[in-house]
Amino acid sequence: LNGSANPIQQQQLARKKLASWVGFSNLPNQVHRKSVRRGFQFVAMVVGESGLGKSTLINTLFETKLYQPKNIPTPGEDRGKTVQIESISAEIEENGVRLNLTVVDTPGFGDFVNNDESWKPIVDNIEARFDAYLEQENRVNRLKVVDNRVHACIYFIQPTGHSLKPIDIEFMRRLHTKVNLIPVIAKADTMTNDEISLFKQRILADITQHGIRIFQPPQYENEDEETIQENEEIISKVPFAVVGSDSLVSSPDGRQVRGRAYPWGVIEVDNEDHCDFVKLRQMLVRTHMEELREHTNDVLYENYRTDKLKAMGVSQDETVFKETNPAAKQAEERALHEAKLAKMEAEMKMVFQQKVQEKEAKLKQSEEELYARHREMKDALEKQRQELEDKKRRIESGRPLTPEKGSQKKRFGLGK
Ligand code: GDP
Repeated sequence: LNGSANPIQQQQLARKKLASWVGFSNLPNQVHRKSVRRGFQFVAMVVGESGLGKSTLINTLFETKLYQPKNIPTPGEDRGKTVQIESISAEIEENGVRLNLTVVDTPGFGDFVNNDESWKPIVDNIEARFDAYLEQENRVNRLKVVDNRVHACIYFIQPTGHSLKPIDIEFMRRLHTKVNLIPVIAKADTMTNDEISLFKQRILADITQHGIRIFQPPQYENEDEETIQENEEIISKVPFAVVGSDSLVSSPDGRQVRGRAYPWGVIEVDNEDHCDFVKLRQMLVRTHMEELREHTNDVLYENYRTDKLKAMGVSQDETVFKETNPAAKQAEERALHEAKLAKMEAEMKMVFQQKVQEKEAKLKQSEEELYARHREMKDALEKQRQELEDKKRRIESGRPLTPEKGSQKKRFGLGK
C-alpha cells in the first residue's frame, strides 16, 4: 500500500499459487472433528405465563422428555411471590454430535396479581451468566471456559388474537439488548389461520412501534439461492405460531404423528401446513444455532462487557488483556515509568530556564542602573570641566572673573 504499511499485512496480501498440495484445505475438517469431539453448549430460556405450553414445546423441540410434568399448585397453596429461575441440563446426542443443552425456565412470570418488575429476576439471571463468563475469561487458565450464557429466549405470547399486552412489551423492551428474543404465539391450535395472520401483523406492528429488536436470521451476501429462500421463509413466519405435543396420535390416514387429537381432527406438530413449529425448530436448531451463539458472544455479551468495564472506570478495551498478560502489563508499567521520567525532566528544564531568565533580568537591571549612574557622573564631570574651561579662558583673556554681588559692594565701599 504505502511505506508505513505493516509488513505482516503485506505478507497476507500477497497471493501465491501453490505448486503442490500442502494440506491446509483440510482445516475445516480439523475444526469440524475438534468441535464434534468437544461437543456444543446451548442455553435456551423459556419465558411466559404458566400453562402456555413451555415445557411441552421444549420436549417437542429436542424430542426428549427433558421436562417432567410440573406439580401444579393446589388451590390455596403458596405459589411464592417472585419469578423463580430453574434450569435443567441434559446431554443429547445425534449422529455422534453431542449437544449439552440447558433449558432455563422462569416459573411465576406473569402469574401474580402484580407483575411489575417480573422481568427483573430474568435480567439479573442473564447478567449473572454474562458475569460468570467474564470472570472465566479473566482467569489465568482460560482453557475450560463453560459457556452458560443464554443464547436464545423463547417468549410465549398468549393466543389472545388482540395485540401484545403491556407485560409482553415491558419484558421485550428490557431484554432485547441482552438476549436473542424469539417470540412465539403459544397454543396456536386455539386460533384459526386468519386469526393467526392478523395477530402476527399486530404483534409485529407493536414490536416495531416500541423499537424492540427480535432475532432475525442474518442474510449474507454470496449466499446460495436455497439458503436465501430458506431464510426468507423463516423470516416470513415470525412470530412463530407453535403447537407442542410430546405424544403420538393417529392421523386420519393411519400414520402415527406427534400432535394433538380433537373431536374434529388431528393437528400435527411436524406439519408445516398446520403450524410453524418446523420453522421454529429449523431456525433454532438446524440452521441458526451457531448464529444465535455467535450473536450472543459478538454483540450482546460484547456490549454488556464494554458497559461493565466502562462503569468500572476502565476506558480501554485492552484492560482485560493487560490484566491477564504479564508481558503486556510490564510493557505498560515501563511506558508509564518512562512517561513519568520524561515529565520530571521537562519540569526540571522549565524550572532551570525560569531561574536563568530571572537572573538575566536582574543582571540587565543592575547593568542599566550602572549605566545610568555612569551617565550621571559623566554629565556632572563634563559640567565641571566646562566651568573650569570657562574660568581658564576668562583668566587668560585678562577679564576679571565675574565678581559676586557681595564682593562688588565691598570693593566700591558700599557695604557696611
Ligand atoms: P408450561 O406451564 O408453560 O410449561 O405449560 P405446559 O407445557 O406444562 O402445558 C400446560 C398445558 O397446556 C398442558 O395440559 C399441555 O398439554 C397443554 N399444551 C401444551 N402445548 C399446547 C399446545 O400447543 N396447544 C394446546 N392446545 N395445548 C397445549
